[in-house]
Amino acid sequence: MDTARLLDTFFDLVRIDSPSRHEAQVAAYCADRLKALGCTVRIDATEEATGSDTGNIIAHLPGTVSGHIALSAHMDCVSPCCGVEPVVDSGVVRSAGDTVLGADDKAGISAILEALEAVVADGRPRPAITVVFTVCEELSLLGSGALEADLFDGTVPCFVFDADGAPGSIVLGAPFHYTLRATFLGCAAHAGVEPENGVSAIQMAAEAIASMHLGRLDECTTANIGMVEGGREVNIVPDSCSLAGECRSLYEDRVNAVRDRMTEALTKAAEKFEGSVDIDWRLDYPGVLIDKADEIVEKLFSAARAAGLEPQTTVSGGGADANLLSTKGAKAVTLGIGMTAFHSLDEHIAIADIEGTERFIEAIIAEFAD
Ligand SMILES: [Zn+2]
Repeated sequence: MDTARLLDTFFDLVRIDSPSRHEAQVAAYCADRLKALGCTVRIDATEEATGSDTGNIIAHLPGTVSGHIALSAHMDCVSPCCGVEPVVDSGVVRSAGDTVLGADDKAGISAILEALEAVVADGRPRPAITVVFTVCEELSLLGSGALEADLFDGTVPCFVFDADGAPGSIVLGAPFHYTLRATFLGCAAHAGVEPENGVSAIQMAAEAIASMHLGRLDECTTANIGMVEGGREVNIVPDSCSLAGECRSLYEDRVNAVRDRMTEALTKAAEKFEGSVDIDWRLDYPGVLIDKADEIVEKLFSAARAAGLEPQTTVSGGGADANLLSTKGAKAVTLGIGMTAFHSLDEHIAIADIEGTERFIEAIIAEFAD
């Protein structure tokens, strides 16, 4: 590893503006670097699906021995992320101004690029390596969702460097995530003159929500109603009320059961007040759950140790590109990169953690070269 080059790459990347849907400049930078390494690089044609000014980068570096792995990170950042100026204080990188730093996920990209530089430079044995840098991860994983369905053949381990937690942390589970949108329709009437002719959509929504189990339902299942909107005037029985919510679980049967109970609460409330309800559920992404005894986990443990890191496993309450890469034929695992307070103006990362992630990637490449 060339630590100066690693940090230069990270600084270059965070200085390039890349809010979601505006990743073209970062993509050009990454494509140039990957081509210089000897990768074949293509940018997929997903702009229409994502609304971005570029596609996902899919690069391929031929192996020198058998085996095939994939390395992934995302190119977009949450706002405010334009005009980032990184500063280093006591070995920690922060943003100088009122922006996020963008270590999420440019620390992941930097570590991947540097590990490839190091492995190619000294000709170490390596498996074939596919690099996937996605757009629009921060917009409900739009970029990875738009990747072609048969990108991988079903067996390729894919390591997604995009979680908090120290380098060496391995995210074994991330939930199924359903989003709910529902609209109650009642009947408007003057609230003082003829309320008996009205059907209150707000009352139906209140009845439905009050009868739902929300919050943490078990150690790996949650439900929430996050938005309610309805009514026009204080003197009108409201004829419309919309609500939005979600449910998540690591387990498909549990998330489906929660979704069905929430649906039942909505329809029962509509029936009780003789109104109606339109219900729309969307699966944002399917879950990921990897067995701790899986060979991939065993290999990650030994790679982490070889890199001088402490391997540990964890589960996440949120989705990442790994959730959707798993539907594209990859065996995807999210790994911690040490980013802290991400999505906030206080976001920061220790240089030692960027280096730790880079060593981890070099060790993963060695571990999967067989
Ligand atoms: Zn991220």
